[in-house]
Amino acid sequence: MLGWSINLFRIRGIRISLHFSFLLMLAYVCEEGWQEAGMTGLWWSAATFLAFFTCVVLHELGHSLTAMRFGVHVRRILLMPIGGMAEFDRIPRLPSQEFLITIAGPAVNFAIAALLWCVIDLPGRGNTDAASGSILDLGTTLLVWNIWMGIFNLLPAFPMDGGRILRSILAMRLPYLRATYWAVTVAKVIMVPAIIWELYRGRYLVVAIFIFIYLAGEAEYRAVLRRELEEAHWREALLQHLATPPAEEPPVING
Ligand SMILES: [Zn+2]
Repeated sequence: MLGWSINLFRIRGIRISLHFSFLLMLAYVCEEGWQEAGMTGLWWSAATFLAFFTCVVLHELGHSLTAMRFGVHVRRILLMPIGGMAEFDRIPRLPSQEFLITIAGPAVNFAIAALLWCVIDLPGRGNTDAASGSILDLGTTLLVWNIWMGIFNLLPAFPMDGGRILRSILAMRLPYLRATYWAVTVAKVIMVPAIIWELYRGRYLVVAIFIFIYLAGEAEYRAVLRRELEEAHWREALLQHLATPPAEEPPVING
C-alpha cells in the first residue's frame, strides 16, 4: 500500500515522496476551501495544508539528518494524510543515539514555533492591518500546530517519538528487549482508553490512527523479540562450536 507514491525531490540524498492518499486529502481540503470562500478559500486552504506539511517534512528531516550523523541510511520521507514517515535502514541499538535521533523531530517543531513567535505580530501586539490579517492567521495557526505537533509526538506511545524516547531511557538501564516491552506496555495503557474515548466521540479517523500506532508498537516489539531470539540462537551455536574439540584425524593405515 505504501508503494503508491510519487517522488518530489531529494534533500541531502533523502527522497521526499507523496503517498497518493496525500493528494486525495489535498483535493478534499481545496474543495472545502472553495465551498467556503471560492477561489480565495481554495488558495488559502491549499497554502495552509502545504505549509503544515512543510513543517512535517522539517520534523522528519530533524530525525533523518541526526540519524545520518550516526551512519544510518535514510531511504525516503513519505508524506501521508496522517503525517510523515522517515524510512531508516536500521534503528541504532545504542540508547543515546536513538534518544538524540528521536528528540530531534519534536525539537524542530518547537524551534519553528519559537521562530514564528519572534517573527509574527500576534493578536494584541498592535497590528490591525487587514491585508496582513490572513498571513497573521496562517502564522498563528502554524505556531499553534507546531506546539501541538511537538507535544503530541512526545506522548509516550511507542513507536511514536515519546515512546522511543522512553524506550531509549529504559534501555540505558534494562536489556533492550525488556525496555521495548515496557515502552510498548505503556503505549497500550495509553492507547486502549484513548481508542475507546475517540470511538465514543465518533472520531473514526483518530481511532484508525491510534489503532495503527497500537499495532505498529506490537509489530516492532515482535521484530525485536525475533531478532533477540535469532541472536541468542547464533550465540549458542557459536559457543557450542567453540566448546567442541576439533575432530580427530582419521588413523592413517599404512598398507
Ligand atoms: Zn517524529
